[in-house]
Amino acid sequence: MDRRRLTELVADETARHRARNPGSEQRFSEARHLLTGVPMTWMTKWSGGFPLSLATARGARVTDVDGHEYVDFALGDTGAMAGHSPAPVVDAVHRRIAELGGLTTMLPSDDAEWVASELSRRFGMASWSFALTATDANRWVLRLARLVTGRPKVLVFSYCYHGSVDETFAVTGPDGRTRARPGSVGPAVDPSLTTVAVEFNDLEGVAHALAAGDVACVLTEPALTNIGIVTPEPGFHDGLRQLCDETGTLLVIDETHTVSAGPGGCTAAWGLRPDVVTLGKAIAGGIPIGAFGLSAEMADRVLSRVRHEGADIVDVGGVGGTLAGNALCMAAARATLEHVLNDEAFRRMEALCTHLDERTRAILEAADLPWSSSRVGARAEIRFVAPAPTTGTASAQAEDAELDAWLHLSMSNRGVLITPFHNMVLMCPATTEADVALHGEVLEAAVATLVD
Ligand code: PMP
Repeated sequence: MDRRRLTELVADETARHRARNPGSEQRFSEARHLLTGVPMTWMTKWSGGFPLSLATARGARVTDVDGHEYVDFALGDTGAMAGHSPAPVVDAVHRRIAELGGLTTMLPSDDAEWVASELSRRFGMASWSFALTATDANRWVLRLARLVTGRPKVLVFSYCYHGSVDETFAVTGPDGRTRARPGSVGPAVDPSLTTVAVEFNDLEGVAHALAAGDVACVLTEPALTNIGIVTPEPGFHDGLRQLCDETGTLLVIDETHTVSAGPGGCTAAWGLRPDVVTLGKAIAGGIPIGAFGLSAEMADRVLSRVRHEGADIVDVGGVGGTLAGNALCMAAARATLEHVLNDEAFRRMEALCTHLDERTRAILEAADLPWSSSRVGARAEIRFVAPAPTTGTASAQAEDAELDAWLHLSMSNRGVLITPFHNMVLMCPATTEADVALHGEVLEAAVATLVD
């Protein structure tokens, strides 16, 4: 690959992005009261100097203020995995808001037990509790893990992401020691006080870290999905469970993204045996939600601490949020799980993503590019290195901002959105074969310009 050519292509595609999107650029450049010009600073991550400004979104389609329609494979980085505004969720939300009322009452509603029992069926965890984001679910679970084990630390894998959870912004340095992740904003304390970071797929590293006996829990995604996709090597999850059992360490599996693997995420698809599952984003069809499920044994341990040691899980003990578990979230989650992200939808989404991934691999191979494509169910991603990395650090080292910009803009300028963070593509129930075919055509044309 010719880097000079790549730089030229990025400049061409950036110019095209500006020429196509005057309305979006104007809104961005005229925003005076938004920090960095957007409602949340990460929205500046979109390539091309400014993000597209949203007009409408339905199913797998998004339109911007300049009137362009996109096939949306970004799907709100999983928040819209049910598709945009699916009819059953719109109906349920409308009914709750307009007919029944009662959005923030601090009272339980009938949908809650239905949603919890459906999540139990899917993920095998006995008792569920709800938050407004996956970040909160993870934060509260770390507190519960420290409560029941009496141990101070958490083990995470280098370059993981579990939301803005203080303890997780740690990586393994070249000397093998845990240190702050580069760019971490205002850490409360040196993260090596709270966290041990180990490389994904490194069971020896895990064994060494857990041997100290001060780790309350391992918190991990089944496959890392926030530094490209890094899949587990054969035996990794069995080994992890065994090491946790041997050392009395809890295993927390974060399925927020890997729920793409099926109705019960990787936990069900791969037969994992966590003590706790955390979730969020997709399960309420786009309405903010987070959830955590405890095994029966873990729930007993928590409740025993509450009964015998005065741990406060009902008031100001550090677990909870005023709006969490509200009736709107519960209504939306019930509609999503019952009618939208059901077993049949997952079968279709996975089949579509398998096609997309196969076509991507064929395109990369035909162009002789040393890149890889990885897939977890309905989610796939290109990494600019081959073979696919097996650790977060190796995957971080394969990051290439210029290639990212080229790929994102080449796709969005031709009507296809992929996530602004790395290159994830995701299917929703409304995604079609034609959408997947368009992705392949646009990718093939882009690759041809690069290796021309
Ligand atoms: N867990 C994982 C695996 C995630 O990828 C994310 C967000 N990308 C979160 C948790 C946090 O989700 P939220 O930002 O909705 O709190």
